[in-house]
Amino acid sequence: MADSAFPPHRADIAPAPIQEQALQRSLINNRYYVRQEQGWAVQQELMSHDQAVYSLGEYTMFCLMWHLQDFEAGLVRRCPECFMGDDAVERAIASTYKQAERAQCRSCYGTTFEGGVRAKIIRPAIFTDTDQSERKTSRGVTETGEISIQSTTDFRVHTGDYAFRANGERYSLRTPRRVQLRTGFGTVSQADEAINYALSRAVLEDPKASTAYIIPPDAETLSSILSPTSTAPVMFSQYEEENGPLIPSYEGSGS
Ligand SMILES: [Zn+2]
Repeated sequence: MADSAFPPHRADIAPAPIQEQALQRSLINNRYYVRQEQGWAVQQELMSHDQAVYSLGEYTMFCLMWHLQDFEAGLVRRCPECFMGDDAVERAIASTYKQAERAQCRSCYGTTFEGGVRAKIIRPAIFTDTDQSERKTSRGVTETGEISIQSTTDFRVHTGDYAFRANGERYSLRTPRRVQLRTGFGTVSQADEAINYALSRAVLEDPKASTAYIIPPDAETLSSILSPTSTAPVMFSQYEEENGPLIPSYEGSGS
């Protein structure tokens, strides 16, 4: 029989049909279907993202500052050095002359919150390339040289936070646009599913004017910390500082 030799009929090699599962009585007339969340898919995506940053990035110190939301959440107090309260004489003087009560406060770095720094952490990050000469115009340093910094997904950046680069450049960061991974019907959580929060827009700070450059460590120390000679991942915990949560609970939910 010539036609049964080669190629074999599909029916001969196909797996046996899967036995139909007996449906629960209540599900048979249910025409609506709610897709389950696929937690594994989000985990995979976050993992491969972090891996890319570790293989192509450079070590960067992220200096997360205290913000008004942290104060309102009760995580930090006002700076006792420069925030005098509404009835203080300094406040009256400052409002009369329309100036800060104390410019470049070295205790809180201009945040008006005690200590200034919520966390200082070292993470790998990928910087997009820019042309430095294009940033300086006749009106001074402008924001034309905005770059993007991509880092790991285990912390949140807010407008006013900083990234310190090994070459001495210090960037102020902007709150990134939020993109969360959704895989099914459910409440999304920033802590678990926000991937683009690791991608922030950043602007180079002016070394002569910005408080970013008075935050320790100094440029030389920073450069030596961020340029380890080892090819294996390095523990930076002795240089890091966490005075508050990296992902504050007020943004843990997906609202
Ligand atoms: Zn202060």
